[in-house]
Amino acid sequence: MKIEGYRLKQVQRLLYKDLIDDWDKATVLPLEMREELKESSPLKIDYKIFEDGNTKKAVINLKDGSKIETVLMEHDSKRATVCVSCQVGCPLGCIFCATGKSFKRNLEIDEIIQQVLLFSRYYRKPTNIVFMGMGEPFLNYENVMESIKILNDSNCFNIGARKISISTAGVIDGIKKFTNEDNQVNLSISLHAPNDELRRKLMPISKGYTIKDLLEVVDDYILKTKRRVMFEYLLIKNINDSMDHAKELSQLMRKPLCMVNLIPYNSTSGFKKSPNVKQFKDYLEKKGIFTTQRYEFGHKIDAACGQLANRI
Ligand code: SAH
Ligand code: SF4
Repeated sequence: MKIEGYRLKQVQRLLYKDLIDDWDKATVLPLEMREELKESSPLKIDYKIFEDGNTKKAVINLKDGSKIETVLMEHDSKRATVCVSCQVGCPLGCIFCATGKSFKRNLEIDEIIQQVLLFSRYYRKPTNIVFMGMGEPFLNYENVMESIKILNDSNCFNIGARKISISTAGVIDGIKKFTNEDNQVNLSISLHAPNDELRRKLMPISKGYTIKDLLEVVDDYILKTKRRVMFEYLLIKNINDSMDHAKELSQLMRKPLCMVNLIPYNSTSGFKKSPNVKQFKDYLEKKGIFTTQRYEFGHKIDAACGQLANRI
């Protein structure tokens, strides 16, 4: 049903500010409209919660029986981040990632928004959103962008674009489109290898292009938006964690607008965590590259990066 004008404002307030979970509570709306909304837009979310310290993972059952996962990380009293999924599984099949083992479909806008609604209603309103759950955001481009509008809208979640980040495994067309979006959403690129030969072994998507091609579109993004780009680099023992790899990586990064975020590998398959995280970080910093290390969370409940695969 199409809702416009002041009615739309009312409905947005009910959904995103009052956080109602039952249309019967929407007493400001006419009865007939409530009945229609009950039919067209059910508010109930079918989910299960798993907790590990300050991390909560929700497994949501969708209408078609698919399951997706979303994670709330409560950093402190001021900051809480929701890690959102955008696909059921992922078609890109990176060999280190549990999500990439299967793929079913893209998520609808309401299925993306539902993940943030769930935590807002029953736990805590997030201050930050990262599209770093299951799936590749730039393969579900339109729905991800529409969801961001709702997250951003002051009548809805009112989360600033600068508090929202998208991570891509390097979908070149998506990065090009994103460069022309008029918003301040942050961009992260999952690089994970400093040369084509290794990257193609780890991430099948990179078989179709070179790191040089990827960096060209990133350069264009930086030039047009004047925004920084975060390169994510997963450290896997004896695979991509030597000082030679650090040197190669440092030569790819343009200062000061390229940053590196080192991700300790979370066990999902045959690989092992690298013992060289500190050494790797020190090397990059010595080369003048702003480098961070991803905070580790949620291992006990398989909620950490790359572990989301609904094995429950
Ligand atoms: N598909 C997008 C968005 C998902 S983000 C992308 O890949 O960027 C998920 C992040 O977790 C990515 O940086 C991904 O590379 C990383 N990741 C995947 N498997 C992981 C693992 N086993 N341990 C740690 N991080 C992992
Ligand atoms: Fe997909 Fe990202 Fe996992 Fe690769 S790392 S399989 S792109 S979710």
